Amino acid sequence: MDYVTSRASAAREDRHAWAESGVEALGGGLYRIPLPLPGDALTAVNVYAMAGDDGVDLIDAGMAIVQARERLTEALGQLGYGLPDVRNFFITHIHQDHYTLAVQLRTTLRGQVTLGDQERANMAAIRDVSAGRAEVGFIQMLAPMGAADLADRVRALLAPRLADPQPKLEWSDPDHWLPDGAVIELPGRTLRAIHTPGHTTGHVVFHDEAAGLLFAGDHVLPHITPSIGFQPVITRSSLNQYLGSLRLMLALPDATLLPAHGPVQASTHARVHQLLEHHETRLAQTLEAATDGPVTAFQVAGALPWTRRKRRLTELDVMNQLLATGETAAHLEVLVTRGQLVRERSPEGVDFYGLPPATADDLASE
Ligand SMILES: [Zn+2]
Repeated sequence: MDYVTSRASAAREDRHAWAESGVEALGGGLYRIPLPLPGDALTAVNVYAMAGDDGVDLIDAGMAIVQARERLTEALGQLGYGLPDVRNFFITHIHQDHYTLAVQLRTTLRGQVTLGDQERANMAAIRDVSAGRAEVGFIQMLAPMGAADLADRVRALLAPRLADPQPKLEWSDPDHWLPDGAVIELPGRTLRAIHTPGHTTGHVVFHDEAAGLLFAGDHVLPHITPSIGFQPVITRSSLNQYLGSLRLMLALPDATLLPAHGPVQASTHARVHQLLEHHETRLAQTLEAATDGPVTAFQVAGALPWTRRKRRLTELDVMNQLLATGETAAHLEVLVTRGQLVRERSPEGVDFYGLPPATADDLASE
């Protein structure tokens, strides 16, 4: 899931053209295959197919639903392959719209599933939740953010799904846990996996330096700002990690951006600069909203505008209120790391943010 906080100025009628079914040839034996995500605002997820004589390798796999499986079968058919010809599923991160179809297909086919090794903790947590052993991390995080009521509303919303917990096949381990920097030799192509924590802790992108391509997963998306740290194991530092992972992209040569949601773009760097700018603007707004503190993340979220239409928090649906509150907490935590805010936990277990007290040094230097 990705929260829509900013949009490019592209013509609106073209905004969803990328998601239409079909196969886009990108040259050099590379193809983009959008698979449907019915009922999801993201509309579709891109699977990238790299064709070889001996089979085909995929980056990301789509969601384990019949429509996606059929569309993938059809698209590979157009390229002269069947599902049994898939050799590898290289998955960028653990979210279900990327990972689960790979695991489902693996049960009957030879394809090997690969996932970044920093997703291990998320995998364990997902299985605990599906087995009814633990509550989803993103619900538990809300009370310390000052949003206990919202947590109850999310619980009520998800109750039908959580009432019947069962370990799902789709959450079994990959065949290979991929370490940062792993080099993948494919026919006529070398990919390097680069750990890019932020969207999830174990997110990886795949860089084809010779061809100037970056398979970016959900790390860099062209039209929307990726959600930060929306995952089973909640970490305070997700936005700090994400900003570091964005800067890491600027240390690579610029490359064609191959995102998991949205159309192919000419420059990864151009989009990374926009995303960094977006977060700096958001950090400034967040700091301003916290100056009259102490305030909770939920209170700050209530003071900030949301979506390109600048809506109020209370106008969003329950799940988007949850995402907005989590995003706000992530921004507050960056400001704490930068020393611009301090955080204090109340006896009730709620985190309050405010300006740091003036230190003796500051006063002495006046
Ligand atoms: Zn995604």
